[in-house]
Amino acid sequence: MDKSVAILGLGTMGGRMAANLLKAGFSLTVYNRTPEKAHALINNGARFASTPAEAARNASVVISMLADDAASREVWIGQHGALSAVREDTILIESSTIRPAWIAELAALATQKGAASLDAPVTGSRMQAEAGQLSFLVGGDEATLKAATPVLKAMSKEIVHLGPVGSGAKMKLINNFLCGVQIASLAEGLTWIERSGLDVEKALGVLKAGAPGSPLLGAISTRMTAHEYSVNFLLTLMAKDLLYAEEEAARCKVALKTAEIARTLFETAAAKGFGDSDMSAVIEPLRDAR
Ligand code: NAP
Repeated sequence: MDKSVAILGLGTMGGRMAANLLKAGFSLTVYNRTPEKAHALINNGARFASTPAEAARNASVVISMLADDAASREVWIGQHGALSAVREDTILIESSTIRPAWIAELAALATQKGAASLDAPVTGSRMQAEAGQLSFLVGGDEATLKAATPVLKAMSKEIVHLGPVGSGAKMKLINNFLCGVQIASLAEGLTWIERSGLDVEKALGVLKAGAPGSPLLGAISTRMTAHEYSVNFLLTLMAKDLLYAEEEAARCKVALKTAEIARTLFETAAAKGFGDSDMSAVIEPLRDAR
């Protein structure tokens, strides 16, 4: 495989993933709906494509890292979509957190063009993306993954192959279901602590050192207590992940009641103006409510 890669979507995650591909010596073409976000990458040697199709045309691996299903559909099969330009030897890698049903549809469309595809959503956030320390959760066949591994390695510390196409997308929704519910519970728990008369630092110390303690609880409680909501993970994206998780679990006849309640908390925060903040801002409407 040659070293030509295209990346579609230069948000919090995609922009940093692209920077690591450049550092690793890949010949990189980038596309983003808002072109301004590509400036730093262009200065460091990336080529800018004005459409997804143009980006995909000369790449052997095309990676997308977009907000949601609507964005992914637009970029792959919308006007000047990337799919129109893929060749038989192109590998498509969809890394956005999206519905497994759309992953299956995209994979079938890729197969019609003779191209191979992987779903490879990631765990890890802004800092891990920057450090090239993401974990890829991969669905797809072994041979395609083997061919794509040098590219994925440049952005990650770990590549977990979970099974056929769609397996990575399913695993990612299960992962974020547990994260979203925990963050929503933490928002309620911390609001309770703040009103209880307990010393907040001491109370959080007990939780962090005890059974509820997790890397997520540690990191998010620090942000919540500092009211630090610069974006690592956009609040609206967590509402989206919980919705997709509920739908996907329902296909397996599992009702995610806790996800539904957690999603309401994120949607309320978005409606109160915190949609463009970090997901840890989910606590703010609870603090205000009396
Ligand atoms: P982000 O910063 O909000 O970036 C979203 C990207 O999607 C941007 O490139 C945006 O383009 C593009 N986009 C949105 N709507 C579009 C549309 N209709 N047409 C074309 N492009 C569109 O999101 P992110 O944090 O990088 O996350 C990307 C994906 O990874 C999401 O699925 C998210 O759930 C997942 N994820 C995020 C994290 C995290 O910690 N942030 C961790 C793991 C997984 P513009 O720049 O033009 O708006």
